[in-house]
Amino acid sequence: MTIMKSENLSPSADKILLPVSLAEIEQAALRIHGHVARTPLVHSLVLSERVGSPVNLKLETLQPIGAFKLRGAMNAVLSLDGGARNRGLVTASTGNHGRAVAYAARELGIAATICMSSLVPTNKVEAIRALGAEIRIVGTSQDDAQEEVERLTESRGLTAIPPFDDPNVVAGQGTIGVEVVEDMPDLETVLVPLSGGGLAGGIAAAVKTLKPQARVIGISMERGAAMHASISAGRPVTVREEETLADSLGGGIGLANRVTFDLCRALLDEIVLVSEAEIAAGIRHAASVEGVTVEGAGAVGFAAIMSGKVKITGPAVIIVSGGNIDPKIHRLIIDGADA
Ligand SMILES: *Cc1c(COP(=O)(O)O)cnc(C)c1O
Repeated sequence: MTIMKSENLSPSADKILLPVSLAEIEQAALRIHGHVARTPLVHSLVLSERVGSPVNLKLETLQPIGAFKLRGAMNAVLSLDGGARNRGLVTASTGNHGRAVAYAARELGIAATICMSSLVPTNKVEAIRALGAEIRIVGTSQDDAQEEVERLTESRGLTAIPPFDDPNVVAGQGTIGVEVVEDMPDLETVLVPLSGGGLAGGIAAAVKTLKPQARVIGISMERGAAMHASISAGRPVTVREEETLADSLGGGIGLANRVTFDLCRALLDEIVLVSEAEIAAGIRHAASVEGVTVEGAGAVGFAAIMSGKVKITGPAVIIVSGGNIDPKIHRLIIDGADA
């Protein structure tokens, strides 16, 4: 287990100037209202009995695209002016962020182009195409696809919607924090999946402002935890990408990170890393006990509690961030596979 806690900075929101404020998160909540689901907070009887205090699940699996990313993308797109909307959107993500951009564009009647390499699996291509986006296949790597995004922003004036390092995106994800405090005013601990830090940074900005005593804990996989490595190093660093069940948590935080590194460094109480076997156990628990299909990234909160890596000492919330897992892999894990 790896625990990080900054010595000199107590993680409280009122002592520092946050790059994203509670006021911006509350504005985002008004802006995206009616376009995204206000997801339920559901009691977990089994986990509550196991840890001896109430544990609730924030089910972002119930968003129309199956993951929370719609909140940030929708807030960013709704913040664009008419000219930018007319020219259209572009991104290179084929995961939950790509789905979110495609969905938001369709909902608002805006064109979206998703750039991807020829190696992206057909099921992912079709999932994005089904949301009405234009698909542009370029090259054989994610870097090739990202270069095409940059070409299209320059040549056609398309707007790239960033997956996490953007104040509007962070504010959109932070609306989850406002909702959990509304629904569980006595919460003491929030467990948040952590990759680029848009989700954890946004939630921490909201929760730590509304309830300075609450703990916000980021959870990543042991394999390639970029924010954890960056905070340990004191600056954004790259980590080697490895295959993991929590594929939505892969990738770096960007060496020129502007927003989420500072936010996570200032506000997260700790970062906990979970193993592949612990993530698999989390996916199994979610399916067999809670009746929820979760992807690896959505299972890390279960993994952190069930492994004992996070000690729960009062009312807790697990952010169940997404459910988009390949059904074949889900079946294998339910049947007992570990990775
Ligand atoms: C993107 C994503 C995360 C991590 O969010 P960040 O803002 O990059 O930290 C967690 N879970 C799921 C399902 C995701 O799609």
